[in-house]
Amino acid sequence: MLQNQLFTKTRKEAPKDEVAKNAQLLIRAGFIHKEMAGAYSFLPLGLMVIEKIKQIVREEMNKIGGQEIIMTSLQRKELWEKTDRWDDEKVDVWFKSALKSGGEVGFGWSHEEPITEMMNSFISSYRDLPVYVYQFQTKMRNELRAKSGIMRGREFVMKDMYSYTTSEEAHKKFYDLTKGAYMRVFERAGLGDRTFLTFASGGAFTKFSHEFQTLTDAGEDVIYLHRGKKIAINKEVLLPEVLEELGVKEAELEEVKAAEVGNIFSFGGSKSEQLGLRFNDEKGEAHPVILGSYGIGITRLMGTVVEIFADDKGIVWPESIAPFKYHLIDLNSKERANKIYKALADKGIEVLFDDRDTRAGEKFADADLIGIPYQVIVSERGEAEKTVEVKNRMTGETKIISEEEFVSS
Ligand code: ATP
Ligand code: MG
Repeated sequence: MLQNQLFTKTRKEAPKDEVAKNAQLLIRAGFIHKEMAGAYSFLPLGLMVIEKIKQIVREEMNKIGGQEIIMTSLQRKELWEKTDRWDDEKVDVWFKSALKSGGEVGFGWSHEEPITEMMNSFISSYRDLPVYVYQFQTKMRNELRAKSGIMRGREFVMKDMYSYTTSEEAHKKFYDLTKGAYMRVFERAGLGDRTFLTFASGGAFTKFSHEFQTLTDAGEDVIYLHRGKKIAINKEVLLPEVLEELGVKEAELEEVKAAEVGNIFSFGGSKSEQLGLRFNDEKGEAHPVILGSYGIGITRLMGTVVEIFADDKGIVWPESIAPFKYHLIDLNSKERANKIYKALADKGIEVLFDDRDTRAGEKFADADLIGIPYQVIVSERGEAEKTVEVKNRMTGETKIISEEEFVSS
């Protein structure tokens, strides 16, 4: 992609009302646009990152048997009444609206109710199970405070997956598979060494649900971390009997700030019972289908990555979710830079080419702000020997290598 053609521009200052570092940097670098508190538009560079994250999640969900769908944002009041989750006293983040033809609708903040109702059309026998479905969906939540940039949106992208199984054992097997898949997602996104399986309240079979918490001061949660065991405990379940069950002592725990990037939860048969989703077993006996619900905050993950890796010059993307691998920077060597750009593009390598007629200092500052993993500088200095300078944005390490070697690497 040619930077000249990118309609977005970098800017020196973030909007005054934006207090979160992730959003400040993403706005300044042209990845997102702030519509209002908690609502951000994703611009070309931002969308590329979202799509990279989604692709990692998609691959890992498909590997454990997930099938991708996309459900509507508009949701029926009756369904949520059946499970007693329509009332604003019960769920405090609802956005609701009225239909002109009469009646109310809700904007999806989660999808357990409509998807479980939908499964009534497809599941009636043990032969129809298990079913694992997921979607990437824009959720709407009327969050009271939206001060964490894209880490807490009133409109945000979530991956939500739902499992339908016949038994507690089958459910647990998939639930554990999901834990592994989630850790692989966070590892691939560059957050592996600071993301911890965290015991939280709720959950049908084990008294716990599980969160995936990533250590960062920008997070809104406080968790109790056991580094040795690589697990953490949420404050709400920090009880003597829980510590005993997990085999940890209170003194071994560190109180740390973290962001909840994912959450997995067992509903058991309760929701299916409420919504009439039953299956007949081999003997023809009817049972409620066991439901599990598994979320990843796609945009929260993106914001968390920005918070963690950014330095005083700007964003630093891990290669796996960067919008491009290379930022090719031409400093008065247009012909050579053009040739390199074409060679990379021919090989399908993702490169942003700074072909603008701007000062070197501005190009460097913009490249540092945008945060593409490798800056490739083509300048008069390398003209005679036909070399380029490759700078690693994360480590700051630079290498001079021959153009030929670079293009063929
Ligand atoms: P939180 O406790 O942070 O409000 P939650 O427990 O309500 O989150 P879930 O309903 O479990 O969240 O949603 C699944 C995932 O979606 C969360 O783990 C988180 O990563 C993400 N998420 C939740 N709310 C938001 C939000 N307002 N903005 C961005 N991501 C969110
Ligand atoms: Mg949660």
